[in-house]
This record gives sequence, structure tokens and C-alpha cells, in this order.
Amino acid sequence: MSLTTDFERLTLPLEHEFGISRGSSATAENVVVRVSDDGHTGVGAAAPSAHYGETVETVEAVLPDLLASVERVGDPANHQRIAAAMDDVVRANPAARAAVDIACCDLAAKRVGLPLSRHWGLDPASAPETSFTIGLDDTERMRAKTRDAVDAGYEILKVKLGTSRDEEIVEAVRDTAPDATLRVDANEAWTPREAVSNTEWLADADVEFVEQPVPAENPDGMRFVRERGALPIAADESCVTLADVPEVAEIADIANVKLMKCGGPSEARRLIHAARAGGLDVMLGCMVSSNAAIAAAAQLAPLVDYADLDGSLLLADDPYEGVPMPDGEIDLAAVDRPGTGARLAEPVANG
Ligand SMILES: [Mg+2]
Repeated sequence: MSLTTDFERLTLPLEHEFGISRGSSATAENVVVRVSDDGHTGVGAAAPSAHYGETVETVEAVLPDLLASVERVGDPANHQRIAAAMDDVVRANPAARAAVDIACCDLAAKRVGLPLSRHWGLDPASAPETSFTIGLDDTERMRAKTRDAVDAGYEILKVKLGTSRDEEIVEAVRDTAPDATLRVDANEAWTPREAVSNTEWLADADVEFVEQPVPAENPDGMRFVRERGALPIAADESCVTLADVPEVAEIADIANVKLMKCGGPSEARRLIHAARAGGLDVMLGCMVSSNAAIAAAAQLAPLVDYADLDGSLLLADDPYEGVPMPDGEIDLAAVDRPGTGARLAEPVANG
């Protein structure tokens, strides 16, 4: 059975401009990929990040070669051969590869009629709750976003930090969400010494852990914070591919795995197991992106300790619906269809 493939750019407006320590944006640009046989279509998406050297333009530049590899292999379930065939023509470019891998995983699961998590043998009831991210903004707006998130039912909030008023922000968020589980993400903004001293007042505010306090280029700094700080440390920018895991296990407590950093769900599963073997807890994160990508990550959630899969929840509008996340609960059992669960929210009627 032969496969056909295509892709298209998707510009997604955000609910609020999304700010982190490195900058902010009002839209997310994704590239949706489709892989079809004569009965089913698998869907995936790339959410490229400039921090890892990708843009929608680089994704669109490499997709024709990656998709030609998939068509040559002809079997969407043969992830090993597809990965090797893609390696032959394109190296790196993890978000582009992730889109292709997601679409192939989706199609393979649709062919056997199973939701992807069940196809992988996972327990849908084991997914942890997802956090909801409060992006950087002026403090009063972060307070308002926190109030909205609490009113919407989210019980775990991830607060972006990395400003000169971090303490004021955490005070405002904690004041507005006294019962929420709080995590913070500095996106590499602190020096190791700042980070150690910040963990003191963050621990007093009952924060659960600190993500990427210092730059990934400074692994000794990460180790310093982990050894002297008052809170567990999660590695995000420090933990990109499988090859990073041995070092991450030395310098952090939690590995933040993202499909768009490592190249898709097939590689993410290897990364998750390797991280566990290294004694790390595992978090599944995401970029701001459509459910065409997030739904696949949600299917992996039973394998991890922490989930941060709010990428589609931050959008003003997503043409794709995926795995429902009422109050942050990743409700895999509610998805009664095969594959990742991603599908166009309002199918256009024929004619
Ligand atoms: Mg992060």
C-alpha cells in the first residue's frame, strides 16, 4: 500500500502574548504534516523553536526530503526504518522530524484501530495532571492570568521567571492561587549564585521545583544549584536529546522531554526510559502549539511524573482538537478514537 504525504503552514494566534525570559510572541507558527494510505490519514505538526535553530522556513525546507523517505519506506509502523531513512537525507531538524514521526505514529495506530497510548501498551489512567503556564508580563497582568487559570480549574501552575522582579511575581501568584501547586521556569536567566539564593524564597513560597535556572552552556552551574539550592532542579534547555541524559542525571533531578527537541514520540520514549535509568524523574513538556502535535505528547503522558502540555490551551483558537484536559486532567480515557486523538475541530462538510 503506497503512502502520500503533504504539509501546510498554520499560524496560530495566542490567547495572551506569551513571554519568557528570552522574549515574547503573539502568535505561534506550526507546520502540519499529513501521511495517508488509501484508508486513513495520520496527522502531526512541527512547532519549531529558534532557540534550537529551527523556524517554519527550515521545517518547510527539509520536509520534502523527510516525507520522501517515508514514502520510500512505505510502512508507517516501521519507525526504525523510517528514522534511518530520514537520517540518510537530513540530520538534526528535530521539530520537522517530530511532525513526521507524529503523523506516522498516528497513522500506524489508526491502522490497528487503537488510541496511541494503548497501541504502546500504556495505562491511560496513569497520566499526571498538566500544569498551566503563566507567561511573563507585568506583575498585575500575571496576577490576572493566574486568577483566570484558577477560575478555569487548573491546580498546577508553571510561572515563567527571569526578571528583576521575580520575588514580586511569585508573591502575586501565590497570593492569588494559595492552594495551587507552583513550579517556576527561569529559562536560563539566573547566575548560579542568584539561583541558589532564589531557591530559598521560592521554597518559602512552597514552590515544587525550579526549571532551568542557569544557561545550558553552564552544566557546572546547574550542578552548583542542585547541590546547594533548596529545591529540586529540572533540566529543559540542558536536556535536548538522548545523548544529554548521562550529564543531565549528574546535574538535575528532573528531565524535561519535549517532542520538538528530541525528534518525536519514538525518540521521546527512548529518552524517557534512559532518563529513568539515570535516576531522573521525567517531565513531558511542549512548545506553544496545535493539538496536531500536543495530542501525541499527551499519549505519552502515562510514562512521566510531571506534565506541562498546555501548548494548545494557550492558543486563542486551534483548528485541531486533541486529548481533553479539563481542569488540567489529561483525560486519555475520554478519547474514543484511534491514533493521537488529533482531528479537525469542525470538519468541513463535503459539497
Ligand atoms: Mg522550560
